[in-house]
Amino acid sequence: MQFNTYTVAGALVAAELVNEPSASATRLSLLLERHEVHRPSMDQAAAAELHRWADELRPAFETTGTEQAAVVDALFVAADCRPRLVTHDGLPHHLHYAPLDAKVTTRVKALTTAGLAQLIADGAAGRLGRCMRKGCTVVFVDTSRNGRRTFCGVRCANAVNVQRHRARRRYGEPRR
Ligand SMILES: [Zn+2]
Ligand SMILES: [Zn+2]
Repeated sequence: MQFNTYTVAGALVAAELVNEPSASATRLSLLLERHEVHRPSMDQAAAAELHRWADELRPAFETTGTEQAAVVDALFVAADCRPRLVTHDGLPHHLHYAPLDAKVTTRVKALTTAGLAQLIADGAAGRLGRCMRKGCTVVFVDTSRNGRRTFCGVRCANAVNVQRHRARRRYGEPRR
């Protein structure tokens, strides 16, 4: 499937916020900057608020079907998301999920909600997931071609493959 970059950016920011263990204003600002979020700088209070917001985002990656849709739908209300038609920096009018002059917390809550919701509305709900390795809590947006990603990365995939291999040896091979 084709991913709209602006939309998927919101979902990617959501995943990174969920995966970010610290509530440091510097780290969270850099995270937003990497995704080209406007005016990403924030104070410590804003960072703490976004850190809490990540807890609300997590279930979007850990549930499926109707439950997942309900979780994300509720985020619109929690985020107080009010889409606006805006223009800035000489760009043609386009949609933003919060007013341009809104606080960074408001804008990020709206952006992450809209990104997750748009993926689901596009029939790509299954692209939101959590690593399959037991004990790993990392979430992701699967942007791979075939959409069959099950692990957060090669380390977890390898760890599980090694475990499976050992289990096969233990139960599958004749004893000496
Ligand atoms: Zn814009
Ligand atoms: Zn993992």
